[in-house]
Amino acid sequence: MNPAGESAPRSKYDWIRVSREAPPKRTASQRVLDYNEIYAVYDERTAQEQASRCIQCPNALCAQACPLSNRIPEWLALAAEGRFVEASRLSNKTSNMPEICSRVCPQERLCEGACILNCRTDPVSIGAIERFINEYAFSHNPETIVPAASNGLRAAVVGSGPASMACADELAKLGYQVTMFESLALPGGLLVNGIPSFKLEKPVVARRMRILAERGVELKLGVTVGRDIPLGEVARTHDAVFLGHGAQKAKGAGVPGEDLPGVEQALPFLIEKNAGPGIVASVEVNVQGRSVAVLGGGDTAMDCLRTALRAGARSATCLYRRDFSNMPGSRKEYYNALEEGAEFKFLTNPTEVVAGTGGAASGVRCVRMELGAPDASGRSKPIAVPGSEYVVPADVVIVAYGFDPIAFPSDSDFNRIKTNEWGGIVVDRDQMTSLPKVYAGGDSVRGPSLVVHAVRDGRRAAMAIHRKLSAAA
Ligand SMILES: Cc1cc2nc3c(=O)[nH]c(=O)nc-3n(C[C@H](O)[C@H](O)[C@H](O)COP(=O)(O)OP(=O)(O)OC[C@H]3O[C@@H](n4cnc5c(N)ncnc54)[C@H](O)[C@@H]3O)c2cc1C
Ligand code: SF4
Repeated sequence: MNPAGESAPRSKYDWIRVSREAPPKRTASQRVLDYNEIYAVYDERTAQEQASRCIQCPNALCAQACPLSNRIPEWLALAAEGRFVEASRLSNKTSNMPEICSRVCPQERLCEGACILNCRTDPVSIGAIERFINEYAFSHNPETIVPAASNGLRAAVVGSGPASMACADELAKLGYQVTMFESLALPGGLLVNGIPSFKLEKPVVARRMRILAERGVELKLGVTVGRDIPLGEVARTHDAVFLGHGAQKAKGAGVPGEDLPGVEQALPFLIEKNAGPGIVASVEVNVQGRSVAVLGGGDTAMDCLRTALRAGARSATCLYRRDFSNMPGSRKEYYNALEEGAEFKFLTNPTEVVAGTGGAASGVRCVRMELGAPDASGRSKPIAVPGSEYVVPADVVIVAYGFDPIAFPSDSDFNRIKTNEWGGIVVDRDQMTSLPKVYAGGDSVRGPSLVVHAVRDGRRAAMAIHRKLSAAA
C-alpha cells in the first residue's frame, strides 16, 4: 500500500518485490505449553501483499494440483484487491470447508507444490491466504444460511467426518432432507477425534457443523449404522445413502513385544490427550517425564511426537525405516515437530519392543537400513544392514503405522458391499458401491488419506446422487 492507504496497481512481477511471508507462528517454547493452534492469520495488508505475488498463470498448475480444483488464481486476484469476502464466497463454491483444508492440507505436496513460482523462488502462500479470506468472511460478513426449498427427497450419510460433511452439505443445498448418523457423541470424525487441536481447533469444526444444522441437516449422534440400525433399513427409508465411516482400525507394530505394557496405539493416545467434549478416552497414557518412541513416519506419527511433548514427555523420538525424502508426513509438520523438540531417527527399522526388569517396555530394538532399488510404490526399498542392531531406550512406545477399515460383524448387511483385498469399499467413478442407492467415499474407500480427498469424494457422490435421482424423477 502507498502512504495514502491505497493499493498499488498489481504487477505480474510483484513476486520479485514481495517475498513469501508465513503467517505469524507462536514460538516453540510457548506452543508446547498448550494444545492451541500454532499459526495466527495474516493481517489484511499482508494477505493482500501475499496474494499479489500470484502471477495469474492462464493454465494454473496450483488449481490442477488441488484435489477440489479450487479456483485459486481467481480468489487470489480478489484478495490482492482487498475484496476478501468475495474471495471467500468464491472459495466456498468448490470447497465445503476451505477454512479447514487450508489448515490441514499438506500444501507443499498439493497446490503450493505445483505453483510455478517454485521454479524461481518461494511459492504463493495459498493455504495461509485461503485461511485468511475465510476467517475474514466469518468475522466481517457471516453468510445468513437459510435451508433450501425441499425437493422431497431423503438422503442419509453415515459418519460425520469430512467426507460425510461435504456430501451432506451439497445435498442439503440441493433441497434434500439429510440425516447424518454418527457413532460417537461428538461429530466431525477425525477432524475432532484424531487431528490434534494444535493443527485444527475444535471450535473451527463445530462452526461447520452449525452451518450444516442451519441448512437443515439432522444429526443423530450415538447411532452406529450396521449395529444400532441395519444399513438395509437406512437404505429403505432414504432415497440414497452415503457411507463416510472412515478407516480407523489401527495396524499393529507386527514385532515381538508389541503387547507389552507401555506399547500404545496412536489414535487412542491422541484422543486421550486431546479429546473433544463428550468423548471418553479408552486409555490413560502417562508420558510425564518419560522417553517416548513413535513408530512410523506419517502425519499421525508427527502428531504423536508433538502431543507427547505437550503432555510432558522427557523426549519424543520418531523411528522411521526410510529416509527423510521418502517420509510420507507433511514437511511443514516435520519442521514444526523438530522446533518443538522431537527427534528423528531415519533409516531405522524397529524389530522388537524390549521389556525391562518390571516386564514393561524399556526400549525398541532397531536395525539400521539402507535404501535399495524402488519398490512397487516407486519408493526406494529399505534393506537391513547386517549386524547393525541397537536399542533405542523408551518407556512408552506409540505405534503409528496407519489404519485399515473396520471390519463389520459377519451378520451385518454391510458385508454385502463389495470390498477390495484390504477391506476398502469398491466404488465406481460416481462413488457408487455394489449396492443400489449406496455410495461411499473418504477413508472407507481410499484407506488413510487426506481431508481434502474426503471432501472431494463427498462432493462427487452428492453430484452423482442428484444426477441419478433427477433423471429418475
Ligand atoms: C492423527 C491423524 C492426523 C491426521 N492429520 C491430517 C492432516 O494434517 N491433514 C489431512 O489432510 N489429513 C489428516 N489426517 C487424515 C484425515 O483426518 C482423514 O483422511 C479424514 O478425516 C477422512 O475422512 P472421512 O470422512 O473419510 O472419515 P473420518 O474422519 O474417519 O470420519 C468417520 C466417522 O464415521 C463414524 N463412524 C464409523 N462407523 C460408523 C457407523 N457404522 N455408523 C455411524 N458412524 C460411524 C466415526 O465415528 C467417524 O466419526 C489425519 C488422520 C489422523 C488419524
Ligand atoms: S484445498 Fe488444499 S490443496 Fe486445495 S487450495 Fe486449499 S490448501 Fe491448497
